[in-house]
Amino acid sequence: MQNLKSREIRLKSRPTGMPGPANFELAETDVPNPGDGEVLIRNSYMSVDPYMRGRMMDRKSYVPPFQIGEALSGGAVGQVVASHSPYLKVGDFVQSMNGWREWFVAPAGSVMKIDASIAPVQAYLGALGMPGLTAYAGLLKIGELKEGERVFVSAASGAVGQIVCQIAKNKGCRVAGSAGSDDKCRFLTEELGIDAAINYRTAGDLTPAIKDAMPDGIDVYFENVGGAHLQAALNNMRQFGRIAACGMIDQYNATEPPPGPNNLILIVGLSLTVRGFIVSNHFDMMPEFIADMAKWTKEGKMKWRETIVEGIDKAPDAFIGLFKGENFGKMLVKVGPDKAV
Ligand code: NDP
Repeated sequence: MQNLKSREIRLKSRPTGMPGPANFELAETDVPNPGDGEVLIRNSYMSVDPYMRGRMMDRKSYVPPFQIGEALSGGAVGQVVASHSPYLKVGDFVQSMNGWREWFVAPAGSVMKIDASIAPVQAYLGALGMPGLTAYAGLLKIGELKEGERVFVSAASGAVGQIVCQIAKNKGCRVAGSAGSDDKCRFLTEELGIDAAINYRTAGDLTPAIKDAMPDGIDVYFENVGGAHLQAALNNMRQFGRIAACGMIDQYNATEPPPGPNNLILIVGLSLTVRGFIVSNHFDMMPEFIADMAKWTKEGKMKWRETIVEGIDKAPDAFIGLFKGENFGKMLVKVGPDKAV
């Protein structure tokens, strides 16, 4: 294809506190022709994820920081439009880390073919992708969940949380979750079938709110939020309970070190295990994750919601919306066609 242009989102400046539109810029760039062994991909969907906020800071972490003036990157699914590789053909859908742009050229080996007949392709960025595996590995391996235990999940209606809730229900657990609106809470109890949901914005003190939702306490707390949620969950943990520390979104935009929970001593007396994890260290669980998800989905025991924003120019707003609860389920940006050519 001659003179093909792609729009992309670049980091313009590093955010302080809550990111704003001025931290991003929309730019247009030339797309080269694919060389030997390369493919030309048109993205269909890109993912915005809370962890990307950490990459906008210039600091050492488990992933390198984004660079100012360069296109951001992240999960995406797209379709092969031209292929100079025997491994991929035109029309194949692939998953990559080349999000935040409409088109790209890459070695065929750097993208992964996905099966578009199993589920809508964008599911590979949510329930069947990184967030789903995060839920699965975090709950079953890090949280060492046993059948029939009591599970509490924060950010329960989000990409990760909604899957955690259903895995726990499928394992016969009592499950309660917190979310930021009555609508989200209704979804959790009425559609996902969890036992109780707390609107943390209106609940007041979360310690008694969790006690009401989980009268016999918590065996596994799936931690997505931190702050007041962590302190209140600790107050409700059972002996030998486990905390799977997945994320602490409450502090991603903090400009000062946030205060710690005032009750960490409970970890000692209750013999708790608090264990953090990063999903990329658990990709070995992918085959069993996909097998279980396929089975649960077929049985009607796994569903998910998505919020889909249209257009690459809307990607910064979609990302910022994660920190305001604007997403219901997985937040995605549709940047191109999603039907087979
Ligand atoms: P979500 O889809 O859950 O989106 C974020 C949600 O968090 C928002 O919709 C909002 O929902 C809630 N939220 C935002 N700010 C706050 C706040 N200050 N207090 C309470 N709730 C808040 O995102 P993900 O499912 O992708 O991620 C959930 C968590 O998991 C994050 O902490 C993320 O960093 C972490 N994560 C960790 C991974 C790992 O490998 N360890 C991998 C993937 C995700 P609401 O309306 O309920 O407020």
